[in-house]
Amino acid sequence: MAARDRKDRGILILLVLLFLLLGGSLYAFFHMKNTAETHQAKIEELQVTLSKEKEKNRAALQELADKEEEIRDLEEYKKKAGNAREEYFRMAADLESRILSGESEAKIAYLTFDDGPYLTTTSSFLDVLDEYDVKATFFYLLKDERYDEIYRRVIDSGHTLANHTATHNLKSDGIYQSVETFLEDIRLNRDEIERRFGYRTDIMRFPGGSGQAREKKGDIIQGLREMGYGYVDWDTETGDGRNVGSVDEYIHGVLDHSENYRVMVVLMHDYSYNTAKALPSIIEGLRDQGFLFLPLFHESVKVK
Ligand SMILES: [Zn+2]
Repeated sequence: MAARDRKDRGILILLVLLFLLLGGSLYAFFHMKNTAETHQAKIEELQVTLSKEKEKNRAALQELADKEEEIRDLEEYKKKAGNAREEYFRMAADLESRILSGESEAKIAYLTFDDGPYLTTTSSFLDVLDEYDVKATFFYLLKDERYDEIYRRVIDSGHTLANHTATHNLKSDGIYQSVETFLEDIRLNRDEIERRFGYRTDIMRFPGGSGQAREKKGDIIQGLREMGYGYVDWDTETGDGRNVGSVDEYIHGVLDHSENYRVMVVLMHDYSYNTAKALPSIIEGLRDQGFLFLPLFHESVKVK
């Protein structure tokens, strides 16, 4: 009896143990299965993210490559444009020297416009120049971003953009108070134009003409040379900078004196409505007198 009881208890314990073992195994199995499934889901999720990231990176890389190619093309284009402009000015310099030696019968007029840009008037001047396919020179001051479109149009149309100081301040405490004040004003305008438009000016005009610099003129010119600048005065003018005249007066201001010149610089201001109205007749009149129109360049005999 005792032996049988022991045997039964033994079997019971064995069953309990088996049960526990089985339960444990089942638990472990399901737990692992769940964990594995969770991990698998996570892995898949990560793979999706990764491939999305890769795709994004691929797109970004492609975009970068495209941009680089665009920049290369643009630089190539700028180089070509720069070369063409240099070549153009080389030919112009050659023509000037042949005119001055009497070898050529040609005449050159450099139309110049000071003190702009102007929001209300400059575009009328640019329209007339476009209409007659004439390239000119704009001696400009430093004005804010509202004027960017005008600076940009002057540059893109192939006119010469030149430096007329940043402030044009002619008061006693202004640009002419010292050599350094003057050069600083030129530098400010040069640097801003270069920063905003990637265009480097190398020609300037003294506000009021080089005579305004008086006893400082020599030192200022020396300083300008060291900065790579040449300066330009003028031969004839409409007179719009001195007083308000009629359209007719402005036309005569130029055409009555132009016969004296083979290579001539004409001074005008692109703030004057009457000059804008006179401009077509000035261009036609000078053409009739045999003048060609060129934009000024650093190597011109008119740039000192
Ligand atoms: Zn001026």
